[in-house]
Amino acid sequence: MDIELTYFCKKCNSNLPRSSFYSRKGTHKLVYPCKTCKGRYYKMWKAENPEYHKNWKEAHPEQVKLHHKKYIDKQKDEDNSTGV
Ligand SMILES: [Zn+2]
Repeated sequence: MDIELTYFCKKCNSNLPRSSFYSRKGTHKLVYPCKTCKGRYYKMWKAENPEYHKNWKEAHPEQVKLHHKKYIDKQKDEDNSTGV
């Protein structure tokens, strides 16, 4: 028998397959809520706070740079670790 495991998303009150969730990087832990809910809430939040990112970036130019650098370093590390 081939039973697909499902996981419960409290936001939309649904049992969903694993593929409906993001998993935390480097672990097998699922990130709640599901992709659909996450997308929906992010969109809603963004619609309500259209200036948030812009304002934050303008107020924290150094942190934006730093964050960007960290991200690039991380990508490099991952490239090395996979041997690509
Ligand atoms: Zn959901």
